[in-house]
Amino acid sequence: MHPSQTSNETEFFEQGQLVGVLTAQPLDRVLDYKAPEGGCWLGAFVEVPLGPRKVLGVVWGPGRGDWDIKKVRAVLRVLDVAPMRGEMRDFLTRVGGYTLTPMSAMLRLATRAPGLGDPPSMRKVYRMGHAELTKRTAAREKVLAVLEEFGGLSFTLKELADHAGVSASVVKGLVQMGAVAEENTPRDLPFPRLVPDYGGKELSPDQASAANILRRDMASGTYGTTLLKGVTGSGKTEVYLEAVAECLRQGRQALVLLPEIALTAEFITRVEARFGMKPAEWHSGVTMTERRRVWKMVGQGDAQMVVGARSALYLPFRDLGLIVVDEEHDTSYKQEDGVLYNARDMAVLRASLNSAQVVLASATPCLESWANAESGKYKKLELTSRFGVAVMPEMKAIDMRSEDLPGQRWISPSLKNAVDQRIAEGQQALLFINRRGYAPVTVCRACGHQIGCDQCDARMVEHRFLKRLMCHQCGESKPMPNVCPSCEVEDKLAPVGPGVERLAEEAVNLWPDAKIEVLSSDMYASARALKARIEAIAAGEADIIIGTQLVAKGHNFPKLTLVGVIDADLGLQGSDLRAAERTFQLMRQVAGRAGRAEAKGQALMQTFQPEHPVIRAILGGDENAFWSAEAQERKAAGVPPYGRMAGIVLSASDVQAVFDLGNAMARQAEPLWRIGAQVYGPAPAPIARVRGRHRVRLLVKAEKTAPIQKALAQWAGQFKLKGDLRMAIDIDPQTFY
Ligand code: ADP
Ligand code: ZN
Repeated sequence: MHPSQTSNETEFFEQGQLVGVLTAQPLDRVLDYKAPEGGCWLGAFVEVPLGPRKVLGVVWGPGRGDWDIKKVRAVLRVLDVAPMRGEMRDFLTRVGGYTLTPMSAMLRLATRAPGLGDPPSMRKVYRMGHAELTKRTAAREKVLAVLEEFGGLSFTLKELADHAGVSASVVKGLVQMGAVAEENTPRDLPFPRLVPDYGGKELSPDQASAANILRRDMASGTYGTTLLKGVTGSGKTEVYLEAVAECLRQGRQALVLLPEIALTAEFITRVEARFGMKPAEWHSGVTMTERRRVWKMVGQGDAQMVVGARSALYLPFRDLGLIVVDEEHDTSYKQEDGVLYNARDMAVLRASLNSAQVVLASATPCLESWANAESGKYKKLELTSRFGVAVMPEMKAIDMRSEDLPGQRWISPSLKNAVDQRIAEGQQALLFINRRGYAPVTVCRACGHQIGCDQCDARMVEHRFLKRLMCHQCGESKPMPNVCPSCEVEDKLAPVGPGVERLAEEAVNLWPDAKIEVLSSDMYASARALKARIEAIAAGEADIIIGTQLVAKGHNFPKLTLVGVIDADLGLQGSDLRAAERTFQLMRQVAGRAGRAEAKGQALMQTFQPEHPVIRAILGGDENAFWSAEAQERKAAGVPPYGRMAGIVLSASDVQAVFDLGNAMARQAEPLWRIGAQVYGPAPAPIARVRGRHRVRLLVKAEKTAPIQKALAQWAGQFKLKGDLRMAIDIDPQTFY
């Protein structure tokens, strides 16, 4: 029996007793089984027979006993992993209830590691051998020096060779001589212990006082959420690492969520410098065997710190004491398919069930967190200045209405001059456009009107080859007009706001001698390749960086002193209620890229509407004014965070069937009306057809305190989904358009 299998559960089922087992199979109930020989604990991971198959499950409680006892089969075996803890079962139940997700899907989310039931596999590791070196070489010395330095530690072949900076064959040679010993050990090894006081920078007074508060909260052993706000480079990471240190001292586990895998490598390096060892990693770039190791070690408390993507929230922590959500405003924390949850909110839930602390770090928190801090639900700590000499860049608008810019060009003369200067000074410039690929917008140069789709609120995208305007949302298309539909001036319509690739073409023409680098997530085969590129660029291997949103996310480019935002207006249109908020955050983040080191930075924003309130708020830097105004507007409209919303997407291959269901749902919404909720729609979903399936959307709006989940479940439960009809319910949807 696993050592931790006895530690936390009081409920034990003797052999033959009925237990209810939750499996990851899409069934709507927990199934009865007989406890196996030797019995099992509540929460135990087990293998059970289901029809002709063997499936993974968790002992969820006593059996219901409503099956013919003669037909009830026995649990096949108990897996050699730590049982699921009570707070984890609670957490999964609560998330399932909140997001209206079946428990089987929740269990799948919590067991995303292969081979949990496999017997432990072995692998070769290397440690100091006994034989003396007969023939010394520099490479061999390096290997032995590493083994010496780390005392009794053993390494994998790759770890040892990498650490010593030699090839694997050098290590193998040493094994033959007996100077290095090769042994077999279980593959799923514990992670090396982190040392809370290993490294650590001298903190600025600002940082020190924030760190003290976090440390004290951490030591309290209770739940609490803190918003740690400060511009990029103000030293937030150093501060929350102090909370991690305190968490480690308490003997508890820490989880740090990052929005982007590309950021992990740099962060891991910082953790290693701070705590002497690397933490565990959990994201899509981690190998399957390593995933299993992380999952198991987290469960038995042999991984003290995990750095990962949102799904790391569902790891079976033995004693989770702290969750940090870095760049908490980032939209990638919202899972948009499968189980629709927001990792930021679920982190808060998980922490509250674990008496753990949450730190939400951001330069530009989302309105929800801002409002929670205002109301006192969250504590707020603010770092006001950039760390060291770097200061916030100077921010200016370039009024595109008065720039002399020929068609098919997006880099204004003013911006070009500024870039020229930086290149001449040996510094880097970033041209930012938040659109991947090659997708322009059509705008009237006389009045600024942008041509939209008649069917939905999206802008039309020009397709040169087809000589048509197309809506990427509903598929509607029309010939390219030559008169502006708004001001009726002729021949002023032109495509602007190119995608990142198109912008690169222009840059190559403008700066034929410059080193130009395009940084867009879809242009790299792997996170590793992307990371390598980012490092080379940071080291100065480019004069001009052309990038999408990717570069807005926390990478450090010391030589970068100028950011040109190609289209600051992008994102201000559309019916997304968070459009203004997103634009505001993104522009501030991008501007934060400039002048991270000694040289003072500048951010230039090209805009056709410099008087727009969002643009003015960005330039003016009066954040509180922006948030207050934004909060007012949302309050008045009764939308999140001051009201509740749910999006329902229906889909089927038959368009009539989807609309029929949508209409029926809109007509028979008593459970929702009873709680005072309103139902909008059905309307074609923003992406009206995906892979041959038609999609229709309904939107439910309710007061903040209304019991919306229960009503939604009752409402949705009235309808049978015939044929290939599907229904997805998204609580607190992040995208509306
Ligand atoms: P943020 O997380 O707010 O963007 P970081 O914690 O990454 O800021 O700090 C920005 C830079 O300043 C990093 O390179 C970091 O190593 C450095 N830095 C932050 N605090 C200190 C400190 N107290 N002493 C020395 N360097 C620091
Ligand atoms: Zn016009």
